[in-house]
Amino acid sequence: MLPVVALVGRPNVGKSTLFNYLTQTRDALVADYPGLTRDRQYGRVKRGGQRNFFVVDTGGIVETELGIDEQAMRQVRVALEEADLVLFLVDGRDGLNVGDEAIAAHLRRIGKPVLLAVNKLDRPGQTLAAHEFHALGLGEPHPLSASHALGIDDLLDAVRDKL
Ligand code: GDP
Ligand code: MG
Repeated sequence: MLPVVALVGRPNVGKSTLFNYLTQTRDALVADYPGLTRDRQYGRVKRGGQRNFFVVDTGGIVETELGIDEQAMRQVRVALEEADLVLFLVDGRDGLNVGDEAIAAHLRRIGKPVLLAVNKLDRPGQTLAAHEFHALGLGEPHPLSASHALGIDDLLDAVRDKL
C-alpha cells in the first residue's frame, strides 16, 4: 500500500488546484465556490523515479462562529484518519486568519505529521509572505503556487522526507 497524503485547509485555498496538478487530472472540481468539492477524491502522484504516494482532496475545513463545522468535517475526518501525512494548505494572499488557527489547533490535537504549505504566492519574490505562518506552530511553511506550478518540487521533497 502506498502512503496517503491528505490535503486539508479552508475552502478556496487551492486544494483541488494542487490535487489536479500533482495527479495531472481534472477530477477534482476547481471553482470559486467555497466548499464545492464535497467528497474525497483520490489520485496517485508519480514523479521521476521517486516513491509514489496517494493524495486525497477534501472539501475543506469550515470555521464558523461556533468552531469547526462538524457537517463539513465528516469527510475530512475520514481522510485524516487514513492519512500518513497531512498537507495543510493556507492562502498566502489572505494572510494568517482565525480559520487557519482553528484548523492548526485541530491538527495538533490529532498528532499526525503535518506539512504546512502557503499557496497563491504566484511570483518568486512573494515567498517571504510564507513566514508569518510560522505562528501556526506547525513548522516551516513551504511557499507554493499551485496554479503557476511554483514550489512544487521543494514541496514534494518535503513530503517524501516525512513519509
Ligand atoms: P479549494 O476549495 O481549496 O479546493 O480551492 P480551489 O482549488 O477550488 O481553488 C480556489 C480558487 O483559487 C480558484 O479560483 C483557483 O483557480 C484559485 N487558485 C488556486 N491555486 C492558486 C494559486 O496558486 N494562485 C492563485 N492566484 N490562485 C489560485
Ligand atoms: Mg476543492
